[in-house]
Amino acid sequence: MFNAIVIEKDAEGYRSGLRQINEAELPDGNVTVKVDYSTLNYKDGLAITGKGPVVRTFPMIPGIDLAGTVEHSDHPAFRTGDRVILNGWGVGEKHWGGLAQKTRLNGDWLIKLPDELTARQAMAIGTAGYTAMLSVIALEKNGVTPGQGPILVTGANGGVGHFAIAFLSRLGYQVVASTGRLEEASHLRQLGAAEVIDRHSLSEPGRPLGKEQWAAAVDTIGSHTLANVCAGIQYGGTVAACGLAQGMDFPASVAPFILRGITLAGIDSVMRPIVDRVEAWRRIEPLIDDPLLDSISREIGLGEVIVTAEALIKGHIRGRIIVDVN
Ligand code: NDP
Repeated sequence: MFNAIVIEKDAEGYRSGLRQINEAELPDGNVTVKVDYSTLNYKDGLAITGKGPVVRTFPMIPGIDLAGTVEHSDHPAFRTGDRVILNGWGVGEKHWGGLAQKTRLNGDWLIKLPDELTARQAMAIGTAGYTAMLSVIALEKNGVTPGQGPILVTGANGGVGHFAIAFLSRLGYQVVASTGRLEEASHLRQLGAAEVIDRHSLSEPGRPLGKEQWAAAVDTIGSHTLANVCAGIQYGGTVAACGLAQGMDFPASVAPFILRGITLAGIDSVMRPIVDRVEAWRRIEPLIDDPLLDSISREIGLGEVIVTAEALIKGHIRGRIIVDVN
């Protein structure tokens, strides 16, 4: 038997709880992993609270991220004792996820934990840090360099926002952080933001073209915010769009695209090919250290997951949550 968060939906309604699961109930898969740490992401919060249609089959063990040790493998790339990470691939949505002491997965979804990282560090970074790095790489591929001007990061107090600020500033960019929590401005400056702005200046319907303020942006918010971000990007700049915290809509005009030649780069972390994942994790390692991770993340146990997921969805959590499942 092992402990897991389980989401159920039946005649009694939608509910999540901490339960014991028999190993015989684990789904099919060619790699069994003893989970060391998992995380709580926005998507996990939606799944656990039922506030968003994330879970496709029930019962479900949530947790889109996990780091652990291979217990048994029939996959050619993995052996017993290998340290592995998993981010995405529909795990925690369609396939049992990381908020459990054990899981069984398709080995094609796993990557080896880089030697320099511990499982706990990898989960402090999690999908949020990995997505932030995919966004940084997208800006670079579109020719953005530190000399071109400030880079805007929206949703600055979220997990993706925190890592985008830290990575960009450590790579030499001047970062402008947009947040609804201005009381956290000094923390955002410690992470590397040169300037902190109020997110309300971006969240209402705006003009098709605004002042050219930023060389590029990492947007975690979508909706009117993304439209206003595009309208404020300098000629030839790039916006990496990775989130939808304000909404999935994109009420924008083509003006920034056809008059300023800006690029909108879409970022998906879930189905991302392995080669891009390995590259992103390789790029992250030299940009992090324990003081940074400690300032971004805090640890909880499996027993605190449900109440913390509710706080996350209400926007009361700053940065990242690591879950020690043992
Ligand atoms: P968090 O919940 O940690 O942070 C989201 C942040 O968005 C909040 O901290 C807040 O920042 C801001 N925010 C929340 N609600 C609103 C609102 N109504 N209007 C404007 N801003 C708002 O989430 P993550 O950082 O983990 O993820 C950010 C987004 O990216 C989510 O939408 C998530 O689903 C998406 N995502 C996408 C991935 C992909 O593969 N494309 C992978 C990972 C995440 P503040 O307090 O600073 O204002």
